[in-house]
Amino acid sequence: MLLILAIHWNAQAELFKLPTANRALFEKGGEEKFFAGTVGKTWITGTFGCVRTDGWQIHEGLDIRCLQRDRRGEPTDPVMATADGTVVYINSRPSLSNYGNYIVLRHQIEGMEIYSLYAHLRNVSAGLKAGQTVKAGEVIAIMGRTSNTREVISKERAHVHYELDLVVNDHFAEWFARTLPGERNDHGEWNGQNLNGIDPRLILLQQQSEGTNFSLVRYLQSEPELCRVLVRGTNFPWLKRYAPLVERNPTAEKEGVAGYEIALDFNGVAIKLIPRATLEIKGKDKFTLLSVNEQEQKKNPARRLVVKKGARWELTSRGLNLLGLLTY
Ligand SMILES: [Zn+2]
Repeated sequence: MLLILAIHWNAQAELFKLPTANRALFEKGGEEKFFAGTVGKTWITGTFGCVRTDGWQIHEGLDIRCLQRDRRGEPTDPVMATADGTVVYINSRPSLSNYGNYIVLRHQIEGMEIYSLYAHLRNVSAGLKAGQTVKAGEVIAIMGRTSNTREVISKERAHVHYELDLVVNDHFAEWFARTLPGERNDHGEWNGQNLNGIDPRLILLQQQSEGTNFSLVRYLQSEPELCRVLVRGTNFPWLKRYAPLVERNPTAEKEGVAGYEIALDFNGVAIKLIPRATLEIKGKDKFTLLSVNEQEQKKNPARRLVVKKGARWELTSRGLNLLGLLTY
């Protein structure tokens, strides 16, 4: 009986593990010990969201403080895979990114491809290569302070930048070359613009409180919506990669799908997609803004996806760009 219980427990292990030994996230008042804020600012600036430049700059991950250092004061914390997965990208040329040395892993979670990213690494575990599988909790790197930004990360602020992401489009490199001609893209599909972050803090805390009942699909679908848009596209990678986020609509199933109504969160993540038939779609535009949650836009404005002109809300060029990439 005990054995069976143990197996049962293992089979329903938590979806995500913390990427370092720092567990202060789960301690009451532990935020100071967990998050590395930016210079002169509170720990809030080390969390996910519109937390920088008075709310107008987004930070797409968590900056997790170091716990151990070598004699010179350099961080030495092992960085671990957040879940079972596959290595998809390693950048070991720190001068090419503000992330410095970083690793991207792909995970299969509830029928979705979720990606995790670990940045500013001192070094990547010897022999770790793209294509290799890793286990949850497996050491993949050592924490560091690498970055190509002018302002270096001080020893005091040493941290791992940890993200959970959804990948927007497999054809990112092509889209980028076409949309931003002349601009450099050193990381192909693994450019930050193609990795759409979700809040690891809220996810880890909800998982901690719900235990094995936690569902990432449910978490995503219950996130506050920033806006709803209608796109004319019917065949784009997100629909397959994030199929559990696509809802059913008998009318569209019967009449044929002519487009999708999409709910976006404040970071532009498509958290709900509803197929729509021609008779359910007004207008002829490729992208139509259907509604805006003004409260959410006020609270989390940094992505600047929508703007109010007089009494009317409109998609900004950034909003249109995001939808262009999503449906490319
Ligand atoms: Zn960061």
